[in-house]
Amino acid sequence: MQCEGIQVNGLLQKYAQIVGEEVVDHLRQLAEPLRGLKVVHVNSTREGGGVAEILSWLVPLKNELGIHTEWEVVTGSQEFYQCTKGFHNALQGNRVEIPGSLLRAYEGANEENADRLRSSLEEADVVFIHDPQPAPLLRLCSGRRGKWIWRCHIDLSRPYRPVWKYLRGFVEGYDASVWSLAQFAQPLPHPLYLIAPSIDPLSEKNRELTPDEVLGVAVRFGLDPKRTAITQISRFDRFKDPVGVIRAYRLCKEYTPLQLVLAGGGATDDPEGEQVLREVRTAAGDDPHIHVLLLPADSHREINALQRFSQIVVQKSTREGFGLTVTEAMWKGKPVIGGDVGGIRLQVVNHHTGFLVNSPEGAALRIRYLLKHREHMLEMGRKARQFVRNNFLLTRHLREYLTLVHAIRHEERERIELNGLQSGL
Ligand code: UDP
Repeated sequence: MQCEGIQVNGLLQKYAQIVGEEVVDHLRQLAEPLRGLKVVHVNSTREGGGVAEILSWLVPLKNELGIHTEWEVVTGSQEFYQCTKGFHNALQGNRVEIPGSLLRAYEGANEENADRLRSSLEEADVVFIHDPQPAPLLRLCSGRRGKWIWRCHIDLSRPYRPVWKYLRGFVEGYDASVWSLAQFAQPLPHPLYLIAPSIDPLSEKNRELTPDEVLGVAVRFGLDPKRTAITQISRFDRFKDPVGVIRAYRLCKEYTPLQLVLAGGGATDDPEGEQVLREVRTAAGDDPHIHVLLLPADSHREINALQRFSQIVVQKSTREGFGLTVTEAMWKGKPVIGGDVGGIRLQVVNHHTGFLVNSPEGAALRIRYLLKHREHMLEMGRKARQFVRNNFLLTRHLREYLTLVHAIRHEERERIELNGLQSGL
């Protein structure tokens, strides 16, 4: 079925080969009444981390659907990033007292960003503000004419209350908020939507690679093509527990020859990365089979290859908003051994698409089990890929975002038409 008046160009059509024509047609139908709207997304980094990863496909696809979509990034001083990293740690449960001077830097940086972005944001029909960094922009754009949505990507199930109380003051005024998991959602005086993240199966990070491409990358990083590889890809962040992964590896390597890859770069909005990287290097010591790789921000093909090269992917986080690295590995047919937290639980169906673990010892046990039961390992990998195909590809995500925009723009109406039935037979 073809929608009348809808420009079909290449980008979206490519996904039809993976998810089917009907799914892509449905997206076009949903987007048709939204054509010409102006939507702006605001976050705090263009590279590194899951939010940037999502916006880099979401923005072009919405534009292709005729929705004028822009992506703005707020920036600030070192104190601003120190403050927002403190928020991140506190919202995910650490007891972090944030000094008043840092809070002033946070508010000041938002004022400066508001001066730069105000006219664009005030005239937009819909504004998506991602995470706490740009949250105060709403208050600073008093002439806004559109709907504003706060998109929270982090695990807010057990926040450190004083910090959440402070931030809640900035997010209460939004027209709606979006969360990855029901457990994360905090009471707020507006509608709360649940939308899980997703990956782009055709991006450089996830597209198919030839065995030679995979091998080429592995050899370039000094990996041994004959040795079993376990990999964790992550920013160097304590919540990702890279040191715990090293412990798990050490518990396994007594029984079987292994190599461990811990690969990640910094996100521009994460000031703690260097310190955590030092801790990881110290923990790795001089073990020649531990490869700590500091990757530049555009290493998408390299990450793709490392995930494909590995027999097992680990994501041993102790807090995790969603964990796109889990989705990425599962899409490549890898079983994932993941921390039993946050969005990892949504993806790793314990004993089916991988294993959920609570300690380095648990991770080691599961790694050893999978390496002993290769058939089961491959079977889990197959199920993992299917699970992502059914649930975590960008077409589902885009459909939910479009539905949300319909709902938020017409919330006073009794009836919202979402079916987009076509008359042109
Ligand atoms: N990533 C990357 N380079 C790195 C580390 C991570 O491109 O050095 C990507 C990774 O492949 C994934 C995203 O950044 O797409 C991380 O998202 P996730 O939800 O796993 O964690 P976050 O960093 O957002 O906490």
